[in-house]
Order: sequence, then C-alpha cells, then structure tokens
Amino acid sequence: MQSELYKRKRGSQFNLMPIPLIDLKAQYRSIKQELDEAIQRVIDEARFVLGPDVTAFEQEMGLYLGVKYSVGVSSGTDALEISLLALGIGEGDEIITTPFTFIATAEAIYNTGAKPVFVDIDPKTFCLNTALIEEKITKNTRAILPVHLYGHPAEMGEILDLANKHNLKVIEDCAQSLGAEYKGNKVGSIGHVGCLSFFPGKNLGCFGDGGMVATNDERVYEMAKMLRHHGSKKKYYHSVSGFNSRLDTLQAAILRVKLKYLDEWNKKRREKAALYKEMLCANGLIGVPYVSQEVIHSFNYYTVRIKDRTEFQQRLKQAEIGNMVYYPLSLHLQEVYQGLGYNRGDFLEAEKAQEEVLSLPMFAELLPEQIKEISGVLNK
Ligand SMILES: *Cc1c(COP(=O)(O)O)cnc(C)c1O
Repeated sequence: MQSELYKRKRGSQFNLMPIPLIDLKAQYRSIKQELDEAIQRVIDEARFVLGPDVTAFEQEMGLYLGVKYSVGVSSGTDALEISLLALGIGEGDEIITTPFTFIATAEAIYNTGAKPVFVDIDPKTFCLNTALIEEKITKNTRAILPVHLYGHPAEMGEILDLANKHNLKVIEDCAQSLGAEYKGNKVGSIGHVGCLSFFPGKNLGCFGDGGMVATNDERVYEMAKMLRHHGSKKKYYHSVSGFNSRLDTLQAAILRVKLKYLDEWNKKRREKAALYKEMLCANGLIGVPYVSQEVIHSFNYYTVRIKDRTEFQQRLKQAEIGNMVYYPLSLHLQEVYQGLGYNRGDFLEAEKAQEEVLSLPMFAELLPEQIKEISGVLNK
C-alpha cells in the first residue's frame, strides 16, 4: 500500500506511478516506429525461421563483439548448452563455474552430463575468485565458465592464463553483460566461446526468448549451427543429435533495430549508476557496486549490499519501488544439486552475498528525479 506521504512526495511529475525495476515499455516507446516497421517487414516477407534477418543480425553482432562467427539460438540457456556440446563436453567432464549466478549457468553444464564444480566468488565483483580456481582443477576438468555477473566482467586475464596452463576452454556467460568490456575487449570475444541472452530484461532484449553463441573457432561455429537445427547441415540429413533451437527471424529483426542503441543505453545505465553512487555513498549501511579500473560495466542490474536488507526492502515496497534479490539461494544449496555433495558453509562469500544483495531500478530511461527519490527512501 502506498502511503499518502509518498503520493504527495512523488507529485504530479510521475503521475503517482510506481517505479519499476525495469521499464520495457519506456524503451519500446522510444523506438516504436522503427520496431513496428521491422516487425511488419518480417510478417510481409514471411520467412519466419532462419530468415535473412537472422544471418544479418549474426553478422552485425559478430562485428559488434569483434568475433568471426555468431550463431543465433533460442535462448541464453541454449547458447550455453550448445557451446558446451560444441566443445565436445559431456559425461565425466568437470566444468568450473560460480555458485552465485542464475540457475541456467549450472543447468546447461548439468544437462550435458558434465559436472558443475563451484568456486567461491570475489566479494567485490561477485564474479569467480580466480585465486581459488586452480585447486579445483582435476584431470577431468575441461573448461572454466565465468559469469560476468550484473554486468561486471570477471577477471578474464587470470582465467585465460589458468586455462592456457591447464589446457582448458573458457566459456563466457555474457547474459548480463552485453556491451561490457574487459581491458578494452568486449566480453563474449575474450574466451573460446561467448554466450549471449536476449531475454527481455537483459541489456539487449528481444520480445521473447533469444540467445547467441559467439566464437572465433570455426569448428565450434559449425557444430553450434548444426546443433541448433536438429544436428543437420544439409536439409533432412542429420549428423549429430541436436535441438530445435533457432533464433526467430522476428526476434532477429527486433534485435537488429535495438543493437544500434545498445552502447547509448549502456552509457545511460552507467550514468544512472554514477548518480546512485553519488546519492548513496554517504549511507554507511549501503555498499554501492565496485567497478574495477580494467572494465567497462554494463549495469544490467544495479546491485547494492546491505547487511540487514529486510527493512530496506519493506520501505521500497511501501513506496512502490521495484527491487529484487538476485539471487536468494546460491546454486550449491539448491535442491536440484543436492546430489553434487555440497554443503552450507562451502562457499562463504556466495552465501553472504545471497543474504546482502539488493537490486534497485535500472534502465536507460530511469530519470534522475526517480533515482533521487529511490535514494531518499533508502537514506531516510
Ligand atoms: C538470463 C541468464 C541466463 C539465461 O538466459 P535465457 O536467455 O533466459 O535462457 C544465463 N545466465 C545468466 C547469468 C543469466 O542472467
């Protein structure tokens, strides 16, 4: 319930509107005509599956990332699973990854038959703590799968050094970080394979599900293309067991329009983050996001740390300000992975983070006044 105080305080400018965590409608309004035209064109052309927009978008995304090959698939989850399979990963293999991420990261590993081997996170970046990776490498380890969580790139330099030393592949989960950079390189172009998600709430979202596999490895590319299309290269001839996991032409056409704006939107996200920081940094109870000197953050989420967040969550809820805990239960503690043999206490930083993180409204169209209001509610 919205209190009278907030109604008055919010005033006429926002028309008593709640502040959402993400406002997809505002983005649509800003480029409505272009999107509507693209959608209508696909309908008129009626080449809905692997139509010309898919190939064009794959080329445009390849150029954007600086990789030779991209393959549009049905989701970010499928991008991860197809990448792993294209690298020949499966039963008996171990893949090192983070327990503090969305389930899809580990799910993709698990569904290939391989075993997710978790390594605790760096409390500053929420990404893999690279100092803890080497002790987890065994003769069965085949790859490291870092997640650039919330849009902050993982320590890719150290991860690649370890991978080279132990002859491992590196698969980047870029679902929350499209457009982010590590030492001047776009994430997704740094490891052997980059996996993108176009879920509506990501930095570049489509109107449903979508994903992409990005790589410089021609064999991975050829295999990923077959896997998304029933294991087939030539129509009705099937070489491997695959999936129906193609990026829809309609989604590709929408994404082609939106890709042109991605850098501008991400820049705006960074401006919002800077304003949040300015407004919140004096609050001794709130830890604002750390940004390494070596990266450009994409701020898919603006995630703060608060030791006792319950009261803050209640205040935000009362003021009708969107907020979310990404993620309340680390993956090693999830019921589905009980069989992996992990226990509470195994990854203390991940377990601490799950109690402390709180994501605040973040999208390119968020107004400075709204950030001031959100901060006011938190600083009260
Ligand atoms: C969203 C997300 C995925 C999965 O992407 P979908 O397109 O929703 O399948 C994978 N990993 C992370 C870290 C994500 O945030």
